[in-house]
Amino acid sequence: MENKERLSIQSELNEKRLRALAEADRRQAETEAAIPALGNINRLIRSVGPRLLALGIQGGDDYEARSKELYLEHEALVDEKMALLKANGYPEDYDLPVFECKECNDTGFVGPMPCSCVKRERAKRAYYNSGLGKALEKQTFESLDMRYYSGTTAKGFSVKDIMTNHVEYCKDYAENFCRGADNLLMIGGSGLGKTHIASAIGHVVINKGFEVVYESAQRIIDAFETERFGKGSEEGTSRFTDCDLLIMDDLGTEFNTSFTLSALFGLLNHRIINGLSTIITTNLSFAEIEEKYKERICSRLRGEYNALVFCGRDIRRVKKENR
Ligand SMILES: [Zn+2]
Repeated sequence: MENKERLSIQSELNEKRLRALAEADRRQAETEAAIPALGNINRLIRSVGPRLLALGIQGGDDYEARSKELYLEHEALVDEKMALLKANGYPEDYDLPVFECKECNDTGFVGPMPCSCVKRERAKRAYYNSGLGKALEKQTFESLDMRYYSGTTAKGFSVKDIMTNHVEYCKDYAENFCRGADNLLMIGGSGLGKTHIASAIGHVVINKGFEVVYESAQRIIDAFETERFGKGSEEGTSRFTDCDLLIMDDLGTEFNTSFTLSALFGLLNHRIINGLSTIITTNLSFAEIEEKYKERICSRLRGEYNALVFCGRDIRRVKKENR
């Protein structure tokens, strides 16, 4: 699976690169037709590479001096070409290929190592292929409708004020995300936008080039169980343990055994120790968390997570009523 993904990313890159080269060829032909002197200059520029190669094969004491001469010749030819293009109303770099990734020129490699653009693309694909799939794409900060947060809490505070604060905090969190960023516990009843906001953070963080994994608590637990009972899971659990940001959705809906509880503790603890950030959403109240999870899990959640308590009325219900 992973291999297939890598091949597909590489072949998309190859296509991009070929398109850029073909467009450059087309522009070169266009400018050579318009500026007769260019043809000869381009031929001379193209001859430098093979001549340099031949020089290397010959070797000899004067190699360095002669190769330097060739570099200077190349530079002068390129200057001449750019001046001609400019004099004829073209941008100086008009016939150069425009690659999307300036780091690897769309080859996918910097030296022998995969380019960061390949890693970013792989992380992005994994994110959108995660448990929540396509639904994640639409859940951004821009698509969040604050009008649904209205009224006051039981203690008389404005729901809109509290939620505006939370959203601003989360935007800031996402934009400044780095290794060792805080862990977040988003707590509150269903339909208050926890999943939407967590997913919106995921979008921003992934576009900053971090590896983000979004999965429901149940599917995470399932993966650990599958691994334990040797059913040969396809992906294993390393994507949950090692990603830069893990978003665990809906903690509390999963079925727990003593094994899953210790797997959960192991996962949360491993991520804390390694400075990897986790966002957990849950419909449980603090009291219910204390009741459902063992003390060692609760103490991690209390001590290592910033809790954001969501308030308001179930957005899905408000939408229905307004229809
Ligand atoms: Zn690249």
